[in-house]
Amino acid sequence: MQELKSYLSDRWQAGAGDGAALHDPASGEAIAHTSTEGLDLGAALTHARESGGPALRSMTFAERGALLLGISKAVHGFRDELLDVSVRNTGTTRKDAKFDVDGATATLAAYAKLGEELGDRRYLVDGDGAAIGRSPRFWGTHVKVPVRGVAVHINAFNFPAWGWAEKMACAFLAGVPVLTKPATGTSLPSFRIAQICVDSGLLPNGAWSFLCGGVGDLLNHLSSQDVIAFTGSAATAARIRAHENVVRRSVRVNIEADSLNAVVVGPDVDPDGETWDLFLRELAREICQKSGQKCTATRRVFLPESLMDAVVEQIGDRLADYPAGRPSEDGVRMGTLSTPSQVPDVVEGMRRLSEVCDVVHGNLPHGEGPDAAVIKPVIFLCRDPEGTPLVHELEVFGPCVTLMPYSGDPTEAARLVAMGDGGLVATVYSDDLQFTGDILLELAPWHGRVLLGSRRIVEHSMGPGMVLPDYVHGGPGRAGGGRELGGIRGLDLYLQTCAVQGARPVIQRVLGTPSTP
Ligand code: NAP
Repeated sequence: MQELKSYLSDRWQAGAGDGAALHDPASGEAIAHTSTEGLDLGAALTHARESGGPALRSMTFAERGALLLGISKAVHGFRDELLDVSVRNTGTTRKDAKFDVDGATATLAAYAKLGEELGDRRYLVDGDGAAIGRSPRFWGTHVKVPVRGVAVHINAFNFPAWGWAEKMACAFLAGVPVLTKPATGTSLPSFRIAQICVDSGLLPNGAWSFLCGGVGDLLNHLSSQDVIAFTGSAATAARIRAHENVVRRSVRVNIEADSLNAVVVGPDVDPDGETWDLFLRELAREICQKSGQKCTATRRVFLPESLMDAVVEQIGDRLADYPAGRPSEDGVRMGTLSTPSQVPDVVEGMRRLSEVCDVVHGNLPHGEGPDAAVIKPVIFLCRDPEGTPLVHELEVFGPCVTLMPYSGDPTEAARLVAMGDGGLVATVYSDDLQFTGDILLELAPWHGRVLLGSRRIVEHSMGPGMVLPDYVHGGPGRAGGGRELGGIRGLDLYLQTCAVQGARPVIQRVLGTPSTP
């Protein structure tokens, strides 16, 4: 069985003992093991701060961008192998593995381009500043400089490639060294990426560390200049936020957690029209892509009562386009759950939903037998969304969705969506501008992103599940309150914003801005 190692202090290191096993979820076979026991994580962080930080800070944005482009190309060079590894360790189909792996290289390339555009600078100045008081000579502005610590990236199991890249791109471009800790169960693709990056010879000493396995005592060694960017469950997020050292040192924490992403279909949508077709196509994809194990997957759908029968009748045909099975089998378009340990969670989650909803498509899974990790889509119908809190609170991380009626009033729909207490993305399907405008401003405070699906974008829409590097990812409340990506906004997490006040010519001289009037 393959032994995975960590890359710390610029050396590959193995922890003591066998540690945790990684599985092929389709067969249940153990394929690798990894341990972090006994590794000196304090020394690794010190090395990253003392070597990686200065190396990245000495580079301009353009140089850091070139580094990201080099990494993107190096990883892309092993695309086929990474897709195979991903299929093996995460049970995903090859097509869904591309979503992860190509998403990683594309995000790195997008931030490489941003670095090129930012050019020869090493830090950012926020705006032109303004005169303070009466004299035009007494000036104030803000400078954004890289923190002097390490960006500690703790990722979820579902995107072992993209999760690594979307975080690393922002931290590296900001000028901050990174320690990546993937979820142990699906760390094989991340491990292979780490090997590729190290072997590329592109990484400055100390710029990247890779912790493969349990988090150990990592958080005990964090300093006030370090940053945690976490993606995973709300329960783990709460433990990190409350960690004694994290609290004591005021370590900056960004959380991307659960989300019961919602779709609202407007009363104007005609079941024979293009917008309806777009809605059904995207709904089927959101249920089935990566077996519903996407943080942005649709979980709740609000429809006018008059459209409910049509969706129940028609969604089955769309779902038939996604035969479920082991990814190695011919014709399979929806693979297994990513890890064997997810199976009981999804089975139990669907069972709990069935206690308060009708099952209107599919059958509840049992989670037993040789194909236990193959879960087929299930559609629930909740007739009383207002009086059923569970459907707004329980995120079942698998291929299922709950349909719910509303009156057609945008304010009512937005209120029901907000019962999810904050989400990553909400989608509105409508061609009525009044309805769209009314609901958008009600949904926006509760979400990091709103997708407006209409007949005007039928040929262009990538669906709500697609996270793009130029647009913010993250949401308030249940979604964790974090914010990642969003082009240059993604760098903010790794930059200290410092107000600078003084004589305007002095500020202009030392920061190169603003221009003298
Ligand atoms: P998880 O169990 O919370 O694990 C997430 C990560 O935290 C893993 O790397 C895990 O390491 C690590 N971890 C576990 N205990 C820790 C501790 N005490 N201190 C620090 N780190 C710790 O979540 P998951 O099951 O992998 O992911 C599923 C959840 O992630 C879902 O709820 C989903 O909604 C959410 N998610 C959100 C987003 C988003 O962008 N908002 C994206 C993807 C997934 P080990 O694997 O070694 O235990």
